[in-house]
Amino acid sequence: MKAELEQLIALQKTDTSLRKLQADIEAIPDRRAEIEREFDQRAFEIRDLEKRRDDSRAERARLEAEVVEQRTRVERAERNLMSSQNEHEYTSAIREADAARKQISQLETQILEKMETVEQSEATLQEREPENDQLRTEMEARLREFEEQTRTQTEQLAAARIERERLLSVLPKQMSAMYNRIATRIRDGVAVAEARNGSCTACFMPVRPQMMVEVRRGQEIITCENCNRILYYAAATENMQEPNKSRANATSEVAAS
Ligand SMILES: [Zn+2]
Repeated sequence: MKAELEQLIALQKTDTSLRKLQADIEAIPDRRAEIEREFDQRAFEIRDLEKRRDDSRAERARLEAEVVEQRTRVERAERNLMSSQNEHEYTSAIREADAARKQISQLETQILEKMETVEQSEATLQEREPENDQLRTEMEARLREFEEQTRTQTEQLAAARIERERLLSVLPKQMSAMYNRIATRIRDGVAVAEARNGSCTACFMPVRPQMMVEVRRGQEIITCENCNRILYYAAATENMQEPNKSRANATSEVAAS
């Protein structure tokens, strides 16, 4: 029995890692997208700065064209002023020239603001250039690392599938049938659970002391009275997890056998 119980434990461990690997592999597109999204998020700030700079440049060009128009308006008003025949023509020419000059002054203030925006964006872009390069390098490295990890996981998955087949082929039919029956019935698909410190580690319910003794012996299949999983005992794990109790456990084990 002991060897078969060990095979069941191995089968459970293989199935658990199979499930984890499958979940990881299924999540590859999401995980990759997450890495790329992070890069896009930071690159977006750069693109935003570039847009701000380009928009300001275009706006400045538009304002300068408007200044040219207003200058023409001033010149025309000045000509009208020179050729004015009466008081009315004279005052209206003066008003026209003043209005145009006022416009030019406002436009020039706006042009200065746009120039400042362009300069600031350029400066920030230049400042962030090494950071942007660094970011790109980092992302490329991370994607390469991710590819590598994915390749390893795919290989591990294939190996786990082979190991699963091997374990199933060596297990007595009735044992593998029992395993499959429990695994398919239980929500998390875990059919074999460790009994540790007097409890089932899957459902956390206590295991009766007499049953615990039998689980420790490992001479027959003992299932948890609460969750029906096949129980096993791993002395090394218990000692590792609870170093303070190791002495007490060793004593009780002697008493049990
Ligand atoms: Zn249980």
